[in-house]
Amino acid sequence: MTAALQSFAPSRALACLPEAEHGRLQRRNAIARYGILDSAPEPHFDDIVRLAARITGAKTAAISFIDETRQWFKARWGLDPRETPLSVSFCVHTIDVAAPLVVKDAAEDPRFADNPLVAGVPNIRFYAGMRILAADGTPIAALCVFDPTPRPQGITPLEEETLRTLAGQVEALLELRRLVQERDSQVVAQSRLTERLRYVAEHDDLTGLPRRDLFNRLLTRTMEGARQNGQRAALLVVDVDHFKQINDSLGHDAGDALLCGFAQRLRNLLRHTDTAARLGGDEFGVILGGIDREEQVADVVASLNRRLHEPILHRGRLISCKASVGVAIYPDHAADPDGLMKCADLALAEAKLSRGRAETFSPRLMEEFDRGTAMLSVAREGLEAGRLVAHYQPKIDLDTGALVGFEALVRCQTPDRVTIMPDSFAQAFDDRELAVAISSQMIASVLDDIRTWVDRGLHFGHVAINTGAADFRSNAFAEMLLKEIAARDLSPSMIELEVTEGVFLGRGAQHVGRALKVLSKAGVRIALDDFGTGYASLTHLKQFRVDVLKIDRSFVSGIGTNFDDTTIVRALIGLGKSLGITTVAEGIETAAQAEFATAHGCDIGQGFYFGKAQPGAFVPAMIARFGNAAAAQAV
Ligand code: C2E
Ligand code: CA
Ligand code: CA
Repeated sequence: MTAALQSFAPSRALACLPEAEHGRLQRRNAIARYGILDSAPEPHFDDIVRLAARITGAKTAAISFIDETRQWFKARWGLDPRETPLSVSFCVHTIDVAAPLVVKDAAEDPRFADNPLVAGVPNIRFYAGMRILAADGTPIAALCVFDPTPRPQGITPLEEETLRTLAGQVEALLELRRLVQERDSQVVAQSRLTERLRYVAEHDDLTGLPRRDLFNRLLTRTMEGARQNGQRAALLVVDVDHFKQINDSLGHDAGDALLCGFAQRLRNLLRHTDTAARLGGDEFGVILGGIDREEQVADVVASLNRRLHEPILHRGRLISCKASVGVAIYPDHAADPDGLMKCADLALAEAKLSRGRAETFSPRLMEEFDRGTAMLSVAREGLEAGRLVAHYQPKIDLDTGALVGFEALVRCQTPDRVTIMPDSFAQAFDDRELAVAISSQMIASVLDDIRTWVDRGLHFGHVAINTGAADFRSNAFAEMLLKEIAARDLSPSMIELEVTEGVFLGRGAQHVGRALKVLSKAGVRIALDDFGTGYASLTHLKQFRVDVLKIDRSFVSGIGTNFDDTTIVRALIGLGKSLGITTVAEGIETAAQAEFATAHGCDIGQGFYFGKAQPGAFVPAMIARFGNAAAAQAV
């Protein structure tokens, strides 16, 4: 308490205050709505008290709020204390009357004569006050002027008008101030809400980690920081292995627990300057900034590998988990965030080939990717321009040397008559859309060619058509092929269908069995291509009706030079024989290979030794060269 304030302290409290309890409460609430008590001085209010004092010629003026136990001065002129107890307040009387309260000489007024403010400092004798109302009409404060000199004449009409007008100004100011405050708090609330909504949108519900958008922004920022500081930054893409199986076999809550466990481990492992995010599904991203040496990245990757592979405990059971990690480093691998992300994705795809590994990007991966993309566009352009054509490679009966049929192989013809081999667009056979389009174009042109040969009375035997896993993704492949054969009035026995073991393992595998059965029943022969290179050859031979077994070129080429290959070829021929399946040795290039296959009882030979694949126009010549008689038998 200041000395001045102490001098205001009352000698004794006034016995009773001229206001009811109800009014007191109402006033308290009305003042609270303005949030003004104990606020800092404000120039607009200070101007008003200064003007009031100047116009009325009083030494002192104040705006006094009537709080519960004190009067508190929002503005004061010629007055030190910021508040006094209510018991000594003149203004508490003022707020009860509508007209200005004028005390001509307080010493003579029984209400104030004993007031310590009258008897002592500041020796109030003259007082005039006008009440101030809240917007709801509740009196809450007073604008007052006072002076140590009594004024027996009271106040002039101008002074009264001044007090009324200025009190009105205070009311207007209070209201304005309240509205501004209200708006400000709305703005604050609004921005808090916006902030919260943004947080929710930018973070994953399940793990609480940032989502992809925020991650991308942070990646950009980290790369920019690294560029300015001449440092490196690393981007890691982490993918949980076998997540779908875990979800399917142990339930979604186990999957969720695994993801949360992963997220927690990532958080624990990283420095606070690093970022971990959930990029979607079972894929996480990590940004490591401020990298000076490449070993720092390797250290983090090694500890990630260690920690992420520990099993996670969920409801009393251990869920084993593994993750594959793709790593890309700025600026070594890419200069921009999109490029770096692509590098990390390619490294991840490589790591996924043998799960549970970490792989760092290398330019080789980008070259392979670009080659794959280029392959797709070669095939797409070939298809659109109708430049895909069938070439036919002869198949020879090893006993008689006669032609038994052909294998149709796709070629892409460029406008300047260069022939592109399928190895140059092999990626297209794995692309669902392109593979199906290539197949249907091949089937149509092979069947058209066969129709022509039949019309010309040529005995070509059969034509083998290649298929891939993509052909069986739809469950209508067999019906489509039979329809095309019937549309040209051809016999299904003229067709052999080559399937690789990949077809049994790929998507759509569930349709393969049925399709092969339908075709087989109609008379199309089924050949297992590239036999010996797959995984479960014998299982497939038992499970599906297979007429022909094509021993892969990689074994045939080793005949006589590689002991293992020689043994395998012999064993496969024996296997075919014991199952009553026709065997074909692919890729025979030498007389020795042909002799070996013949000597061991292989039925058919195919390879450059007998002839390369040639356009349909050469088929009559090939038939003539190998002799018609045996071919006629095979039809
Ligand atoms: P594939 O089905 O194993 O076809 C045999 C491949 O071996 C053909 O290569 C053929 O030209 C080649 N070849 C045959 N004899 C010899 C030989 O003595 N020595 C050597 N070095 N190679 C020989 P091509 O035509 O380049 O086809 C490669 C692969 O592309 C085929 O392997 C097949 O998987 C695929 N392909 C070709 N045409 C089609 C098609 O119309 N549809 C599908 N789905 N795949 C096709
Ligand atoms: Ca083939
Ligand atoms: Ca083959």
